[in-house]
Amino acid sequence: METHGGDPLLSGFEDPEGFGFETRAIRAGQPHDSRTGGVVTPIALSTTFAQDAVGQPKFGYEYARTGNPTRHAYETCLASLECAQYGFAFSSGMAAEDSLLRFLEPDNKIILGNDAYGGSFRLIDKIYGRNKISHEAIDLSNPNSIKEAWTTDTKIVWVETPTNPLLNVVDIQKISEITHELGGLLIVDNTFATPYLQKPISLGADAVVHSATKYLGGHSDVVGGFVATNNENLVEHLSFTQNAVGAVPSPFDCYLVLRGIKTLAVRMDRHCKNAKAVVDFLSQHPKVKQVFYPGLEDHKGYAIAKNQMKDFGGMVSFTVSGGRQEAEKISASTKVFTLAESLGAVESLIEHPGAMTHASVAGSPLEVPDDLIRISIGIESIEDLLEDLENALSFS
Ligand code: PLP
Repeated sequence: METHGGDPLLSGFEDPEGFGFETRAIRAGQPHDSRTGGVVTPIALSTTFAQDAVGQPKFGYEYARTGNPTRHAYETCLASLECAQYGFAFSSGMAAEDSLLRFLEPDNKIILGNDAYGGSFRLIDKIYGRNKISHEAIDLSNPNSIKEAWTTDTKIVWVETPTNPLLNVVDIQKISEITHELGGLLIVDNTFATPYLQKPISLGADAVVHSATKYLGGHSDVVGGFVATNNENLVEHLSFTQNAVGAVPSPFDCYLVLRGIKTLAVRMDRHCKNAKAVVDFLSQHPKVKQVFYPGLEDHKGYAIAKNQMKDFGGMVSFTVSGGRQEAEKISASTKVFTLAESLGAVESLIEHPGAMTHASVAGSPLEVPDDLIRISIGIESIEDLLEDLENALSFS
């Protein structure tokens, strides 16, 4: 199925699959502009496109909600990185999740991890729940528990790995085998790992979703979402829904994520390296009760993470012995780490999930410990990050 216009200027990098990840991140979907030789994909602001005759657009584009050359370049590039033939860009991660979940019908059921991102849970619980779509949040670290939760109405297993904020890791391949045996679809939120560290579709997932706001954009300056898939039914559904609902990103937003993706590999390497040093530091600090990081050998998901991820990522969470009060004080005491929501960008961020990003799941099975601090490790000088944490921990 052809889902994108065939603009000869932006129709794709010749045989992108023949090239390595980093090369595709920079070139897939982004041939040089044949009019000017420009090496950067233009931000195509036009909302409408000239037609040669009625119903015959010159380059396959008609109206910018339906298709736009900058979005097409971004969709081609990120789909290639996710080992998918089709990619669909949305105006936020939540818009991407919502557009995908509109696939479901009343009385269908979703099985999801019991520590999924609070916003995903809220969407499934509060919005889809209203439309008679039920859900069950279970511990996916035991993939066989899917069989117990499964009913004839179950259509989707929704997996996040590593999870936000507890960094739990689940076995994508095993879950995909069980889900497919039962006749369902496996959706993986790959926001924390990114396609550089983990490729869910090659492990059996039917679709990957992203908050492109995080590592893909990478600079805290764009909100975006994405779905990549090879599943023909989902392709048909998403092609229709992306246009019919219209939760699409602006050309400038597409440009920003595409630009971010070019440096994804080098940024991720540095995020991972800095995270390891921070984990070593926190693991030895007397005020720290427990560190959550999939790269720790005593982490429950370490063996799975080592097997399905290239490295362990830039997100770290930890609990402190002084409880909620101390956790909040530390979160507000750093100088290089900024106290703010979000994650995955070049600058380091710190937050208290219970009071901030995960406040919406208080009282639900997804509630997080109140002495938990989540940090997104940026790519600054590691000495500055360690000194900042040392100071915040000692003065709190
Ligand atoms: N998925 C995960 C794992 C997230 O962390 C987030 C946001 O924090 C989302 C989805 C939602 O993405 P957005 O904020 O871009 O709508």
